[in-house]
Amino acid sequence: MLQGRTTISKFLIEQLRGADDQADLAALLVDVTAAVKAIAAMTSKGALGGYLGALASSNVQGETQKRLDVLANDVLIQSCAWSGLVAGMASEELEQPYTLPPQFERGPFLLLFDPLDGSSNIDVNVAVGTIFSVLRARGIGDPQPADYLRPGFEQVAAGYAIYGPSTMMVLSVGKGSHGFTLDREIGNFILTHPDLRIPEETGEFAINASNERFWEPPVQRYVAECKAGSTGDRGRDFNTRWIASLVAEVHRILMRGGVFLYPRDCKDAQRAGRLRLLYEANPMAMVVEQAGGAASTGRQRILDVEPTQLHQRVPVLLGSRSEVLRLERYHQEYDSGLDKPFVSPLFKDRSLFAEGPRA
Ligand code: MN
Ligand code: MN
Repeated sequence: MLQGRTTISKFLIEQLRGADDQADLAALLVDVTAAVKAIAAMTSKGALGGYLGALASSNVQGETQKRLDVLANDVLIQSCAWSGLVAGMASEELEQPYTLPPQFERGPFLLLFDPLDGSSNIDVNVAVGTIFSVLRARGIGDPQPADYLRPGFEQVAAGYAIYGPSTMMVLSVGKGSHGFTLDREIGNFILTHPDLRIPEETGEFAINASNERFWEPPVQRYVAECKAGSTGDRGRDFNTRWIASLVAEVHRILMRGGVFLYPRDCKDAQRAGRLRLLYEANPMAMVVEQAGGAASTGRQRILDVEPTQLHQRVPVLLGSRSEVLRLERYHQEYDSGLDKPFVSPLFKDRSLFAEGPRA
């Protein structure tokens, strides 16, 4: 059985045989794998490693940084800066892209990452992850911030690691999405989930329901119909899930289907959505599409969004294809005034109450 096991480096070398810089891309992804193993070692030590807790600092998004956010960021930079494979890197935790020190050769790729996704879950021992995206560098010399602003369809590779009961990596180089499990005894990722396929249909949806009053009508309509279950328009029951960690949500959807929604809302007029386009939405959209699913803002395919800022946020609706297409249809119908006026059951109740107690 042992000789039948495919390590992640063997898999990447085989998938990326041939064309010019493909061997370099394989080598870069192996460097990312090395960083992931180091981050897995830190997260698995938990409180014993002394890595938990928050720092006094906050990142460019104004969010409190956890000690592990910063450590994971440093590990990725150290693992990938030296090898002559990247021209520069951009991270959720850094306001400006990272410029390589002068002694290192500039390589053909840009690496973008969310070093520790779901880090608010770290202190409660719920799965966290690392998300990464690879673009081809353009021009020579050090890349400028604008060089990172490229639509997701230009990604040459993307993926994530999940630090759960087992550590896994799921990645795509544009030839399907594939899952690998870390064998800690031999220190290597082994191909365990080749050619992941997201089931077209699902009975699970995930959304932060506390924001319901801020959602747009098409999303309120969709969620109300799911909640109405077998007694409503959908004619069948749904279950809800919410882990508040993008990596854990996407991983569940890749394993057994479902749909994840972080829609546009009117809670904060400065933000079109919650998730970052370059470090979260784009890489996850590539992995999901390569597994037969769909990823949309509700009004546009995520991978087609033209970025305007490094830390830009977008609405994200992703997962089982038929559900994402339905959500896009609800947005279209709403925008063109074609849908029957949708009133959330929440507001129906309120207007009833507003009439006062009936005699
Ligand atoms: Mn994140
Ligand atoms: Mn993060």
